[in-house]
Amino acid sequence: MLAELTHRCPLGCPYCSNPLALDPRESELDTRTWARIFREAAALNVLQVHLSGGEPGARRDLVEITAAAHSSGLYTNLITSAIGITPATLARLADAGLDHVQISIQDSEPVSADHIAGYQGAFARKKELAAEVVRLKIPLTVNVVVHRANVERIGAMVEMAIRHGASRVEIAHVQYYGWALHNREALLPTAEQTARALQVVEELRRQHRGAIVIDAVVPDYYAHFPKPCVGGWGRRSLNVTPAGKVLPCHAAESIPGLEFWSVRDHSLADIWANSPAFNAFRGTAWMKEPCRSCARRDIDFGGCRCQAFAITGDARAADPVCHLSPHHDEVVALTTGQRDVPYSYRVNRKSRVKVPESHMR
Ligand code: SF4
Ligand code: SF4
Repeated sequence: MLAELTHRCPLGCPYCSNPLALDPRESELDTRTWARIFREAAALNVLQVHLSGGEPGARRDLVEITAAAHSSGLYTNLITSAIGITPATLARLADAGLDHVQISIQDSEPVSADHIAGYQGAFARKKELAAEVVRLKIPLTVNVVVHRANVERIGAMVEMAIRHGASRVEIAHVQYYGWALHNREALLPTAEQTARALQVVEELRRQHRGAIVIDAVVPDYYAHFPKPCVGGWGRRSLNVTPAGKVLPCHAAESIPGLEFWSVRDHSLADIWANSPAFNAFRGTAWMKEPCRSCARRDIDFGGCRCQAFAITGDARAADPVCHLSPHHDEVVALTTGQRDVPYSYRVNRKSRVKVPESHMR
């Protein structure tokens, strides 16, 4: 379960997967409601909760929320930008039962990293928090978000993750939902960059075998087949928004016409089994050709519904990333449509950092 505790975040990453219409602070669920959700999730056999956002450190009750998740029997993973989590807070989180921390990094070069984050000093703060996580012996994953501005430095970012003491590094090519879809022209790497990046990852895996786990996936727009998005709609994961809506995936609100139920009105079990949004694309009955008669339909479940809608305008279409999709040419055209346009930062403000032109893309 992904628990989006808040959409508030001091950073402004142009690839943020949060929706363009962010939930305001006043709408956020309170501590007691989160505690109930965690108990209901454990009763539904949920194993892990990712405490995410926005930046979860923006919640003053993060320690209480973490303690509630832990005491419900859930494995707790804090996904943080590192801004807003002090060493003192981290120690309290560890005492509350926090099991794992994931810190995302923007680049191996400080100026570029701060430019991408839209926050001066973010690079240094991440390094400090990573050291503190390791000192407290909490397992650390470093998440490297890859796009056109940093794709040439995957090797340097993995080296950085190893220096930070991470036991796992996740190379996450940007997925084009939310703010990332809005900034797609500025973020998409070229075909040559992507091919080279895939080779670099294989070399890194060979080089660091046994020392660090490197997880990476083929970037969506350059794949032959789509990913089995969220392991299949309504099959194994759910996402609770800051205001309490329960979604089959974090981008599901981008599909018009779906009816989402809220934890304010329904139990998690009721939402999982009966809410219209969870049942909209469960199983295979909703599929159209070519997915309906495809041998892979129970492997990738037709790919991502949000991506199908974003590119074809039809959420029931095959994910156009699939080379069998009649819309695949549109994806191919997008991969040659990169332009040097400025980032639209996640919030309506200009970048707080001054960077040389050479770092702009
Ligand atoms: S992607 Fe960036 S802006 Fe979005 S929540 Fe994470 S740190 Fe904040
Ligand atoms: S046609 Fe549909 S089910 Fe078959 S591989 Fe493509 S997306 Fe998957």
